[in-house]
Amino acid sequence: MTRLDISDGFDVHDYRSKLKLLRQDAGSMSLENRAELGCPACGTPFDRLFVSDDETVTFDSAPSGPICLARTDERLLVLTH
Ligand SMILES: [Zn+2]
Repeated sequence: MTRLDISDGFDVHDYRSKLKLLRQDAGSMSLENRAELGCPACGTPFDRLFVSDDETVTFDSAPSGPICLARTDERLLVLTH
């Protein structure tokens, strides 16, 4: 299993064939895991990945399963399982 590698930041283009873009706005995007990519935090495959360049983020509703957080120098990553 390939694990999402964020040791050198996160660039969606590195995972073009594995992550499907669901939604994108000025500072953030939501992606679907199409390839059983492993979570950078816990190692198990995640369902969705949210990536934000913004300083703050608000979610209107909580996911039903576990979530993991990861960060790079520039971005916050939220992974749902
Ligand atoms: Zn995880």
